[in-house]
Amino acid sequence: MSDASTLRPLRASSVTEWDQQADVVVAGYGIAGVCAAIEAARAGADVLILERTGGWGGAAAMAGGFIYLGGGTPLQQALGFEDTPENMETFLLAALGPGVDKAKIADYARGSVEHYNWLVANGVPFREAFWGEPGWEPPHDEGLMYSGGENAAPFNAIAKPAPRGHVPQMADKKIGRKSGGYMLMKPLAETAESLGVRVEYDLRLGRLIVDDDDRVVGVIAKRYGKEVAIRADRGLVLATGSFAYHQQMIEGYAPRLIGRPAAAIEEHDGIGIRVAQALGAELAHMDATEVAFFGDPQLVARGILVNGRGQRFIAEDTYPGRIGQATLIQQENQAFLVIDEASYEAGLATETSTPFFRQPPTWAAETVAELEADMGLPTLALQATVDCYNLHAADGKDPLLGKKPEWVRPLQGSLAAFDMRGFTAGFTLGGLRTDLDSRVLHVSGEPIPGLFAAGRCTSGLCAGGYVSGASLGDGSFYGRRAGVAAAKN
Ligand SMILES: Cc1cc2nc3c(=O)[nH]c(=O)nc-3n(C[C@H](O)[C@H](O)[C@H](O)COP(=O)(O)OP(=O)(O)OC[C@H]3O[C@@H](n4cnc5c(N)ncnc54)[C@H](O)[C@@H]3O)c2cc1C
Repeated sequence: MSDASTLRPLRASSVTEWDQQADVVVAGYGIAGVCAAIEAARAGADVLILERTGGWGGAAAMAGGFIYLGGGTPLQQALGFEDTPENMETFLLAALGPGVDKAKIADYARGSVEHYNWLVANGVPFREAFWGEPGWEPPHDEGLMYSGGENAAPFNAIAKPAPRGHVPQMADKKIGRKSGGYMLMKPLAETAESLGVRVEYDLRLGRLIVDDDDRVVGVIAKRYGKEVAIRADRGLVLATGSFAYHQQMIEGYAPRLIGRPAAAIEEHDGIGIRVAQALGAELAHMDATEVAFFGDPQLVARGILVNGRGQRFIAEDTYPGRIGQATLIQQENQAFLVIDEASYEAGLATETSTPFFRQPPTWAAETVAELEADMGLPTLALQATVDCYNLHAADGKDPLLGKKPEWVRPLQGSLAAFDMRGFTAGFTLGGLRTDLDSRVLHVSGEPIPGLFAAGRCTSGLCAGGYVSGASLGDGSFYGRRAGVAAAKN
C-alpha cells in the first residue's frame, strides 16, 4: 500500500539528477500498459515501461481473457452472428449504466472491429468456435461467447442479441491462473519488445514530477526502497490497475466490496488514481464494481434464485456477473438457489468451466413447505414464489422476469436449496476521468498536460453495470489511444 505522505507531486526543479529518460514512460505492464507501449513505439517514441513486479502480465495475464468486442468482427461473422456498431452501442448503453460516458461507448462500439483486427495483427489468436452454454467462460478454447446477458431479459428485447465475449485461444487452461488472458498478453508483450520498448522490472511508481506549469515531466519510482527519478519527455501513461486492494479507498468509495476483492491482484492498490488526484484529477464512478457470483451458471439457469425473503429477483439465465451485482447491490448479498432433483441432475451432467462452484446442496426436502421451513423462511414465502413460477412455467413462460422458455420448467418432486448468502466478490471499476484520447482530465475539465491513463485506474465503459470483457476491452482500446496521444504530445 502506498504511503499517503509521498503522494504529492515533486517539482522538477528539485530533481538534481535524472536516473533514466524516455519519450514516453508507461507505469504498469498489464493490458493497458502493453497496448500503450506498442502504439507509442509505433508512433516513433522511445518507450520505457516501469513494472512493480518481476514480470509482465498483471491481472490481465491471469484473466479469463474475455475482450468485449463487436459490431461485426470477423469472428462474429465467421460464426454466423450479425452485429453492428449501433446495435452494440444500444446494448452497452442499456447494460453498463446508469451514468455511462456516452461518447466513450459510441467511440468504442465504432472502433471495435478495427481493434479486433489490431489484436489479431499483433498475434492474439482466436479460434473460430462458439460456446453457447451458460457459464463464466468457455471450458475449452472456444473463441466466442455471450458475456453480458445480451441474449437474456431485459436486454434481448432492447438490442438484437449478439455474443461479444472474444476469448484468445488457450488450449491448456488453468482457470483463475492462466487462461485466455495469458494468450492476450504474451503476443502483445512480444510485440512491444520487438519494437524496442524497454522495460524496468521491480520498479514501483511512487509520485509524479511536474514542471512549474504543473505539466507532468516524470516520476519518482522506487526499487527496493531506493528512489529513482525518471524523465518522461513527451508523456506519462498511468496503467497500474484498480484500487481493489487499497483498504481505505474501498471503505471510502466502494464499501460493498470490503473483504471481498476478486479478479484483481494485490498490486491494484490505487496508486495511479492517487498520484493523479494529488494533481487535481477528476474521478468518475468510484462506487462502480464488477461482482462475481460463485454459483455454477449451469445449475443457476435450471433453478430459481430467491432473495432473503424467498422472492425471485432476476432471470436466472442471464450473465452471472449481472446476478452478482443484483445480489450484492440490490439484495443485501442474500441469495438461495432452489432446484428440483431432475434439473439438478441435468445440470450436473453438463460441462462447466467452474466445477469448483458445484458444491453439495445445503438443504434437501420432499416438499416446498418443508424446504421453506428448513431454510428458515416464513410460511408461504417460498411456497408463493414456487406456486407463481410453476403456474406460468407449465406454459413454458416466465412473465415475471423473462427467463427464456428453454430454461423454464415447473419445479417438481424432491427439491434442494443452496445457501448462497455472501457468495460474491469483485473488483472496482471507477477511476480517473479521461477523454477519448486517454488524457487525464483535471477537475476543471481541462486535460492535465503530459498525463495519460488507461485500464482500471480509469473509469472506462462501465458506470454501474458490467459485461465480461469490458476491462480487457477498454484497457486495451484506450491503452492504445494513450500511447498514440502521449507519443504525439
Ligand atoms: C482471474 C481473473 C479473471 C479475469 N477475467 C477477465 C476477463 O475475462 N475479461 C476482462 O475484461 N477482465 C478480466 N479480469 C480483470 C482484468 O484482468 C483487469 O481488470 C485488467 O487486467 C485491468 O487492466 P490494467 O491494465 O488496468 O491492469 P493490469 O492488467 O493488472 O496491469 C497493471 C500492472 O501495473 C502494475 N503496477 C501496479 N502498481 C504499480 C506501480 N506502483 N508501479 C509500476 N507498476 C505497477 C501491476 O503489477 C500490473 O502488472 C480478470 C481478472 C482476474 C484476476
